[in-house]
Amino acid sequence: MKSIIISTGDELLTGSTLDTNTNWIASRLTELDVELICCFTVGDDRDKLLWAIKQATEKAQLVIITGGLGPTDDDLTRFVLAELANSELIEDTHSLTVIENFFRLRNRQMIERNRIQAMIPAGADALDNPVGTAPGIKISIGQATVFALPGVPSEMKRMFDLYVAKWIAQRQPAKIYRKKIHCIGIGESNLVSRLEPIVKKFPQIRFGTTAKGGVITINLAYDKLEAIDAFTSDITGELGDIVLGFDDDTLSSVIGKLLKRRKQSLVTTESCTGGLIAKTITDTAGASEYFAGGFVCYSNELKQKLLGVPEKTLIEHGTVSEQTAEAMAKGAINATNANWSIATTGIAGPTGGTKEKPVGLVYIAIANDSDLVDVQKFLFGNLGRDTVRERATIAALNFLRKYLLDN
Ligand code: ATP
Ligand code: MG
Repeated sequence: MKSIIISTGDELLTGSTLDTNTNWIASRLTELDVELICCFTVGDDRDKLLWAIKQATEKAQLVIITGGLGPTDDDLTRFVLAELANSELIEDTHSLTVIENFFRLRNRQMIERNRIQAMIPAGADALDNPVGTAPGIKISIGQATVFALPGVPSEMKRMFDLYVAKWIAQRQPAKIYRKKIHCIGIGESNLVSRLEPIVKKFPQIRFGTTAKGGVITINLAYDKLEAIDAFTSDITGELGDIVLGFDDDTLSSVIGKLLKRRKQSLVTTESCTGGLIAKTITDTAGASEYFAGGFVCYSNELKQKLLGVPEKTLIEHGTVSEQTAEAMAKGAINATNANWSIATTGIAGPTGGTKEKPVGLVYIAIANDSDLVDVQKFLFGNLGRDTVRERATIAALNFLRKYLLDN
């Protein structure tokens, strides 16, 4: 089955709103094994919307439209659908009752204009919207089935799962099993060539990789679960601790699981990452179980006062040095009851680099309450401030992860 997504709204074309709907639907379609042949983004313009829907319904069996179902003059989707289907708009009494109840329950006055949201082309199905006012519309145009969903992302997602995903599931021949294997600390091409012999062993399984934020994800898909499991176990055997986790795991959640399993806690002390490591750790709900907190010690004064970094270390070796990173990590353990600490000090750039200490140089230290201290030097290059800080954060958490796995 081939599909096309159409997102509508002037705000998408002017760049004031990022089209997150298309991105989200595209990944759901991939998960559901539906081929997406292209995407249109169209402004609030009758002729162009008509053109796009016409093209889409000629090329795809499934067309998903988001936006333009509201009550305002720039909401054109229902009118264009009626025109293309050669049908009249009629008031759907059930939808009208639902809309009236929506306003009544919230003690709000329903203005006459809202009635338009209950209008759907004759012969189409109205799709109840459990989280908003505008119902969606399901309609056949030519050989295509068209789903028109609201533009509001939370409403669109809910209704995609309720109606579109269900419709797709009824048409797919076999259940497809999927597995994601997240890997860290290896380049994508290196990873792929290491896995080549295993991939050859399972030619029937769909295999692909994607890279995001320092993590390479291996995506597997096949209709036999046992084969996916066998493939996965071969891959984990080959890659060892390069495998970060599976499916919904993230670096943050994996660190959390490891600390919880060990019943241990973590403190961070950050200079060049400015709190990004603490932020990443707290991206996982329930982090308070193992995350004591973090110091962001940018000035030397605070490094001395809060962490007890000796002035001598700072003067002799500099703020960005192995010795300072080590003293910060130890200082954080001494200042708290945490079992583990991570410290960063470096030059995020774009200014502040020297020949000896270039932009992108970051020292990362790990310490624990059993007197372990380890410092690693990283040279991330002059890749821009955000990238250096992101890479340092990933490297720091991965450095800690290896200790949590080993010790
Ligand atoms: P409403 O009943 O709220 O008017 P609608 O179906 O008419 O719903 P729009 O008016 O097009 O939808 O959009 C409603 C909101 O959703 C706007 O704030 C808009 O910025 C946001 N939105 C619309 N389309 C997208 C999209 N493709 N990606 C992200 N946000 C979107
Ligand atoms: Mg609208």
